[in-house]
Amino acid sequence: MRPIAQGRPVIAASSASDGSTARAAGSFDFDLIVIGAGYGGFDAAKHAAEHGLKVAIVEARDMGGTCVNRGCVPSKALLAASGRVRELADAEHLAGFGIHAAPVRFERQKIADHARQLVETIRTNLTKTVERSGATILRGKGRLDGPQRVVVRESGGGVERPYRARDVIIATGSDPFVPPGIETDGRTVFTSDEAVDLEWLPRWIAIVGSGYIGLEFADVYTALGCEVTMIEALDRVMPTFDPDIAKIAARNLIDSRDIDARAGVLAQSIKPGCPVQIELVDMKSREPVETLEVDAVLVATGRVPVSKDLNLASVGVATDRGFIPVDDTLQVLASSEPGAAPIPHLWAVGDVTGKMMLAHTAAAQGTVAVENILGHPRRIDYRSIPAATFTHPEISSVGLSEADAKALAAEQGFELGVVRSYFKANSKALAELESDGLMKLLFNKASGEVLGAHIYGLHAADLIQEVANAVARRQGVVQLASEVHTHPTLSEVVEVAYKQAASAVAG
Ligand SMILES: Cc1cc2nc3c(=O)[nH]c(=O)nc-3n(C[C@H](O)[C@H](O)[C@H](O)COP(=O)(O)OP(=O)(O)OC[C@H]3O[C@@H](n4cnc5c(N)ncnc54)[C@H](O)[C@@H]3O)c2cc1C
Repeated sequence: MRPIAQGRPVIAASSASDGSTARAAGSFDFDLIVIGAGYGGFDAAKHAAEHGLKVAIVEARDMGGTCVNRGCVPSKALLAASGRVRELADAEHLAGFGIHAAPVRFERQKIADHARQLVETIRTNLTKTVERSGATILRGKGRLDGPQRVVVRESGGGVERPYRARDVIIATGSDPFVPPGIETDGRTVFTSDEAVDLEWLPRWIAIVGSGYIGLEFADVYTALGCEVTMIEALDRVMPTFDPDIAKIAARNLIDSRDIDARAGVLAQSIKPGCPVQIELVDMKSREPVETLEVDAVLVATGRVPVSKDLNLASVGVATDRGFIPVDDTLQVLASSEPGAAPIPHLWAVGDVTGKMMLAHTAAAQGTVAVENILGHPRRIDYRSIPAATFTHPEISSVGLSEADAKALAAEQGFELGVVRSYFKANSKALAELESDGLMKLLFNKASGEVLGAHIYGLHAADLIQEVANAVARRQGVVQLASEVHTHPTLSEVVEVAYKQAASAVAG
């Protein structure tokens, strides 16, 4: 355990999950105050309380944060329902099995209700889990007030209460980014915050941005019969994905659907209304390209950190475009400059740190921060954290991009191995009549170490976990190629990649 500060006696006690009584150390009200109850804050508070720390978690809006209320949970509920509609409406695919279904009918409101009810269930469960862990929930907006001090402006009355905590974790997450020139009204021009409510189905919707959020909503909208125009400022759609994976994925997820994709164009201005007016200009020349009139616009242009009202200046922290700089133990640094000093007793986790902005990253960071607070040194391993896009079919990745792997190979003087494994050679994918898919595996040809993988195809989000585990253990393809995979399963796509790679490893 790390040393506990001396001071005035304990103010309060609470029960940890193991039945022991948590007591705040010395002059502190709490051992740990977590600001923000999204996945990052939730995991940190629960882990700390379960390890006997006296914990408070501050939440200004809804318990569960973005993921539970406005992100992963409702969007996956919409994708589950609309995915069924897509499947049942795909007459050609069904005819391949000799199945002829009646025209599909769906109720938009019931799909929206399914998402809303799931959000409520998961939010309630999460809140109960926090309470059961022994952590105290403080409803209100938290900010720092110098080292080891937090002020909470309580929800409702606006009363401000000061607290002292031995350690503070900032987990305030992120909000949708709306570029300048784009006006939102929440009804005809909106972000994912409103899109998850599925309040109506526009006949024609423009989606600005072709990252994973834009792609997932394009999947939902096209399955439910909307016409989509996808607007991407960079010079290819899906710019953040592996280029080979993006090529095959775009063919299936964009080109073969009712989607008109425009790359290299900027939505310079968007005005809400009926219709919504979008002025498109060429990204490079800024010359006008076209004015579109559509029924609705979803702005999916990334997310910005929530850090501006935290009074970070009171502890001497300079953010990097709002992101809070942290080291791999999740301790906050004074700035993002090399060699910046760590700030004692201050930690940050989740989207507000800007590192792989995903729910499971936030949760993993929360656990690592608490382990370090408990005096068990741990570092986070970003390379082994997978990412997935839950389109139909899915896209996933883990580890290095091919460009980064090439750079690492040049720097360390090894040869980079790249193999491709195709779903069209997989019995299970063929049985499902869904054999469009590719896995690309990157590895060190000398040592065999797996460096990264990128997958597009049926259940890619599940398939990537096996590779993520191998990356976490820094395993080599020779050993992995000897591990037996169930037949017939999609996991054999990974097995084939490992086998091809093993045969290319020196010696
Ligand atoms: C549409 C969509 C789909 C997504 N799908 C996935 C997915 O499938 N898988 C995945 O891994 N990730 C997904 N994500 C990303 C995921 O939601 C985020 O990475 C995750 O929520 C980050 O967690 P967090 O704890 O850092 O922050 P958040 O979840 O944003 O939570 C931060 C919390 O802090 C609170 N807060 C902020 N400031 C204060 C303050 N001063 N005082 C008190 N409380 C405060 C906020 O109200 C919020 O509740 C999705 C995101 C979106 C938008």
